[in-house]
Amino acid sequence: MFPIVFLFLFLRPMKEKISEIKDLLQNPKDIVITVHRGPDADALGSALALSEVLKQLNHNVTVISPNDYASFLYWMKGNDQVVIYSEDKEKAQKITNNADLIFLLDFNSLSRISDYSDVVENSSAIRIMIDHHQEVDIKAANIIISDPKSCSTAQLLFEVIENLEYKHLINKDVSECLYAGIMTDTGSFKYSSTTSKTHHIIAELINLGADNSKIHDLIYDNYSENRTKLLGYCLNDKLQIFPELNSAIISLTEEELKKFNFKKGDTEGVVNYALAIKGIIFAVFIAEKEGVVKLSLRSKGDFKVNEIAKKHFSGGGHMNASGGISELSVNKTIEKVISIFKENKKNLTK
Ligand code: 5GP
Ligand code: MN
Repeated sequence: MFPIVFLFLFLRPMKEKISEIKDLLQNPKDIVITVHRGPDADALGSALALSEVLKQLNHNVTVISPNDYASFLYWMKGNDQVVIYSEDKEKAQKITNNADLIFLLDFNSLSRISDYSDVVENSSAIRIMIDHHQEVDIKAANIIISDPKSCSTAQLLFEVIENLEYKHLINKDVSECLYAGIMTDTGSFKYSSTTSKTHHIIAELINLGADNSKIHDLIYDNYSENRTKLLGYCLNDKLQIFPELNSAIISLTEEELKKFNFKKGDTEGVVNYALAIKGIIFAVFIAEKEGVVKLSLRSKGDFKVNEIAKKHFSGGGHMNASGGISELSVNKTIEKVISIFKENKKNLTK
């Protein structure tokens, strides 16, 4: 297709896209729902919520994650049936090849699903993307519902379900998955992306059965002893503060993670402690995992970390929360980050 065709398809009004999706869901289909690599509560919660809704409409649905994720998400309904591509490529491939529809949730470009993208691209299924990241790749799917202003994919998905007239299918399980997605992507309703609409939707989810206090507990108050001690180590031994640049770094090598018997999800949220220090507006968390140096970038106000992630670390994300990877060692990455702080001194200290 010519790029102009993708642009035309992308720019169609929401109403038209919704009615097209509704037509596609008119009779039972084989459906795959996939999410970005290392899915968080927003990605996985959205996928499992949509899966539960579509199953009630008699579709044959499989959620496929590119790789495994944190165990504090395992409580979500349908988790036990998620196919992990990196662990069972053959099965994931077979299901994907056979699919009529593939939903792409909580990511804006096929590069975010690593090598599973080849499988998705080789399938003849119609692709539907629902996402809230900026700079969507308009060639990634046939139908794209993208709203970077939305705090979470879960909130956007709630609105899509509502517009499809499937709201009556949001049961307790669905509402809890969506609640978890909105809760985590808004930092428990505190980020500036949280609006009155977010609170209205959250109120509806509670009315539909979401046990809000239980979900906070399952996600935030579920640390292993090792995770708690690793956090202590990060804060006591590994935090570097640059007060003159209003910036901070926390870094961990693979060896250090091993010492604390690192499990997926154990470092989630660590970067926020650096950002919570008075005066800090740019916080960077660096960790070497499975031989790859990953960065989490967070900021306050209008300092755009997604631009830094894109320019320096082959990544991206949101204005105040982004990520990427570094080709350098942990120590060299720290040096690079410090030079980025210095380059941006004007914006960091204004
Ligand atoms: P985290 O720091 O929690 O891993 O990621 C924060 C946000 O940054 C994610 O929600 C996602 O939007 C974005 N992000 C993280 N890693 C990458 C990456 O490797 N590439 C891109 N494009 N975005 C990323
Ligand atoms: Mn999200």
